[in-house]
Amino acid sequence: MKNNEELRNWLDAFGLSHPLVIAGPCSAETEKQVLKIAHQLKDTDATVLRAGIWKPRTRPGNFEGVGALGLKWLQKAKEETGMFIATEVANAVHVDLALQHDVDVLWIGARSTVSPFIVQEIAEALRGTDKIILVKNPVNPDLSLWLGAVERLYTADIKNLGVIHRGFSTYEKTRYRNIPEWQLAVDLQNRFPDLPLILDPSHIAGRRDIIFDLCQTALDLNYDGLMVETHHNPDEAWSDAKQQITPERLRQIMKDLRIRKVMDDEAEFQNELNKLRTQIDVIDHQLIETLGKRMKVADGIGTLKKTKNVAVLQNKRWNEILGKMILEGEQNNLSEEFVLRLFKAIHQESIAHQERILNHR
Ligand code: PEP
Ligand code: MN
Repeated sequence: MKNNEELRNWLDAFGLSHPLVIAGPCSAETEKQVLKIAHQLKDTDATVLRAGIWKPRTRPGNFEGVGALGLKWLQKAKEETGMFIATEVANAVHVDLALQHDVDVLWIGARSTVSPFIVQEIAEALRGTDKIILVKNPVNPDLSLWLGAVERLYTADIKNLGVIHRGFSTYEKTRYRNIPEWQLAVDLQNRFPDLPLILDPSHIAGRRDIIFDLCQTALDLNYDGLMVETHHNPDEAWSDAKQQITPERLRQIMKDLRIRKVMDDEAEFQNELNKLRTQIDVIDHQLIETLGKRMKVADGIGTLKKTKNVAVLQNKRWNEILGKMILEGEQNNLSEEFVLRLFKAIHQESIAHQERILNHR
């Protein structure tokens, strides 16, 4: 079994090009299930076995975890496979029990990070620990809450800290269960550059088919690790069945990922370039999505205008928009000429959309 110093070294190693892989079921269900998955994970790159024991469910009536009993199963899995073990803690009692059972990695879930009271309670219970503590982003895209949780843990003298990007809840229907906010995670990293950053593609995706792409984006953005929900029989999982993958699939994903290695100045340059390019790709993607949304609203206006037979082009309104955007553009370092050209193009597209609605329905 590894001692604390080795654990610390291991955390230091987070910054290396090879990603840390945490894998295992959303929930520990039975001893047999935990052991089976742990043994199957031996053939993969996963070095940490995760399993939720206390499950925060948004709605009551769902499986809420097996409780402290599951910690014994995790310990057994550790003895049998040599993997580190990880579980979620959501209050001081959980922390005490997890520490008593020598859990190596404790993570704070998204529903806990939103509560400064809970985070403070957990931080106090963990004070001075050498264990690795990972903080998931809060459910809502609020950088201060995430930063605040990290600060509370640092203040409690916890040195082996990392963060997990698991996506953010949104009212809108998107292809994700929780949308990734890559820029927000980059902002967090800029504030704490040494903090290892891990991606949880499972809770972002909510489904299996986009796990690979999310992992690749994370590696392109120089993430330090991945936490992937993995189950020997995903369809039968007691929680989050749709998003879990088999250990075999995880092995394949890790094989197919392009893992970037920092080896020399040239590689470092390439790495930095790729990271920035991926950021640009993410922002461009958001731009297109935002423009699509704007056109949908314009369509709605077109439909409304049709009911009253109102003209498409409203010059006064258009000039107001333009004036406002030129000012905002200046504040964002964008030239007047550029903003004018951009908004003319957007306006033209809106008009085309509205005309289609007025004339063809
Ligand atoms: C989990 O990891 O199983 C979990 C409940 O995650 P989150 O806090 O991100 O919802
Ligand atoms: Mn889950």
